[in-house]
Amino acid sequence: MTQQHITILGSTGSIGCSTLQVIAMYPEKYRVYALTAFSNSELLLEQCKEFKPAYAVLVNVDVNEELIQRFKDQQTQLLFGIDALEEVAANHSVDTVMAAIVGIAGLKPTLAAASRGKRILLANKESLVVSGQLLIDAVKLSQAILLPVDSEHNAIFQSLPINHQRGLTESGVEKIILTASGGPFLHNQLNELADITPEQACKHPNWSMGKKISVDSATMMNKALELIEACWLFNASPSQIEVLIHPQSIIHSMVAYRDGSVIAQLGCPDMRTPIAHALAYPDRIKSGVPTLDLAKVGSLQFEAVNLDRFPVIRLAYEVVKTGGTASTILNAANEVAVESFLNRRIRFNQITDVIEAVLNQMTINSVDSLDVVLAADQQARVLTYTVIEKNEV
Ligand code: NAD
Ligand code: MG
Repeated sequence: MTQQHITILGSTGSIGCSTLQVIAMYPEKYRVYALTAFSNSELLLEQCKEFKPAYAVLVNVDVNEELIQRFKDQQTQLLFGIDALEEVAANHSVDTVMAAIVGIAGLKPTLAAASRGKRILLANKESLVVSGQLLIDAVKLSQAILLPVDSEHNAIFQSLPINHQRGLTESGVEKIILTASGGPFLHNQLNELADITPEQACKHPNWSMGKKISVDSATMMNKALELIEACWLFNASPSQIEVLIHPQSIIHSMVAYRDGSVIAQLGCPDMRTPIAHALAYPDRIKSGVPTLDLAKVGSLQFEAVNLDRFPVIRLAYEVVKTGGTASTILNAANEVAVESFLNRRIRFNQITDVIEAVLNQMTINSVDSLDVVLAADQQARVLTYTVIEKNEV
């Protein structure tokens, strides 16, 4: 393949930094076209010094001449504001877009990349959750390529036959087994959950990640979002997906076939593996991750997921069955609830209750345009703040 020109949306985050680590190993294969951040201008500047992109974007910083000059000194043109994200994702010079912004903020630039037929490395699961139909339609229409970076979905992708797009049943698939570590509080007593602090929730036993996804992993909302993500990516019905607790995060997910075969992808829990896989696909490159030493791991454990303990999983199955804006609402309520937990406005065990209360109070509409999605997102956010303020849970 000729040199790929890459935009990294959310380059200062956990996935963004891991992506740059892999890219740094192959200057002849990958050229960084643009890097973007919400507000961390110093880290963004450091990254520009090393990778010399044509553009950098700061979303939440006011236009600032001194900053512009400091980036210019590194041969990078600095842009400001949210619209610039779409420009650098859709520009004709770009081949590949790493979608690594957290939350619904990643939706518009990812959609822009999809409508321009880019190769999209998708970490931002929320864009599929809030607007799966629109994103998948845009990918199909413009013949974009969507490669999953989320470790479970990347594992499922690797365990499926190449032509699985013809349908799971046609491919002999009986079910997809989505593994979940269970997070840091898998074996805590339910009455202990109320006192969990943001610091404890952000400390995942196996993965080092951004704050939002760390809290999502602790509540298992991350798995709920991933269930929805998997339905869209693999054109699966919820009944074709089973969630299985696997605390070591060594098996990243599996596919069970009709003949009794189960194919799994294993590896050390390090996002550089799925990132390198998606970057080089269908080739294989070194990622910097050591080969898995199973003798050292010793044993792998599994347990069925307890839906009473993790009601968000049941909620996700229901939301997929309902369709329309249900998953948009679930995502919006979760984003606000997680932020409120991180700001110590609600307790850890209230996150799920808040989301359920919001879902119960809102009308679900069918998704036929981005406006419908954005309106549902906005309404759900307002309602979630109200539910939290009134302490309705
Ligand atoms: P993070 O919080 O570490 O980084 C988020 C990035 O997005 C940062 O660069 C930040 O500047 C940018 N950003 C945040 N809010 C923004 C906004 N409103 N507008 C524009 N940019 C904004 O998050 P992360 O852990 O790297 O996760 C990124 C995405 O990847 C999430 O969707 C997450 O679910 C997914 N993901 C992460 C991991 C992981 O191991 N970290 C694994 C699988 C999937
Ligand atoms: Mg994951």
